[in-house]
Amino acid sequence: MANELIYEGKAKELFTTEKEGVLRAKYKDDATALNGGRKEVFAGKGKRNNTITSLIFRYLKAHGIPSHFIEQISETEQLIRKVEIIPLEVVVRNVLAGSLAKRLGRPEGEKMDTPIVEFYFKNDALDDPFINDDHVVFLGACDRKEIETLKALALNVNEKLQELFSEIGITLVDFKLEFGRDETGAIILADEISPDTCRLWDKETKEKLDKDVFRRNIGNLITVYDEVLNRLMEVVK
Ligand code: UDP
Repeated sequence: MANELIYEGKAKELFTTEKEGVLRAKYKDDATALNGGRKEVFAGKGKRNNTITSLIFRYLKAHGIPSHFIEQISETEQLIRKVEIIPLEVVVRNVLAGSLAKRLGRPEGEKMDTPIVEFYFKNDALDDPFINDDHVVFLGACDRKEIETLKALALNVNEKLQELFSEIGITLVDFKLEFGRDETGAIILADEISPDTCRLWDKETKEKLDKDVFRRNIGNLITVYDEVLNRLMEVVK
């Protein structure tokens, strides 16, 4: 059946379409922090994140990164390929911030010589715990070869995104990716890439242009998401 809601997450709803294997993702205006513990609605957030994600996935596709993205079909909606989501959050870090700064007891802003890739187990009840490769295998989320594929893809995405954001005066501090398996079992990029899932700092002013303005109550979310969108629209056609 088409137009059936099959999943509702914190920031998106997924619906079936007439076409087998194709879903419609609708971006919501909700912002959550503290694993859903804090929630607020920002009118217009959904359309900004949908457009930002669509631009970025188009850019990545043009640079050889396979993903679930098909096309943006409205302000808040996009068509995506149905994949079996791997229950991991793959985080890539270029600059120390957020939970890692806290865990290591060092100030935010320290640049890394080489990027760090981390895995978190996607499980709301457990607050998405940090896990290592052995845990990933134990959980049955991926085998060793797939772990290497995930890391290579994540680092490849990082290179492409660092280049893109650098062009628009933004430092890509860190970000979270999710991956899925397509009908052939191949691992492809999924979910979204937006200021909800990345830390983005203005290169010159160091201003935060991402969800930290909401998490830390330090600015207007819509204003900074617009800034990211406007800059991206200048370079991604
Ligand atoms: N992130 C995300 N979803 C999550 C957790 C983290 O998109 O559930 C992103 C976050 O926006 C940041 C990066 O992953 O860009 C690293 O987040 P971190 O581990 O520092 O956690 P946080 O400080 O967000 O708790």
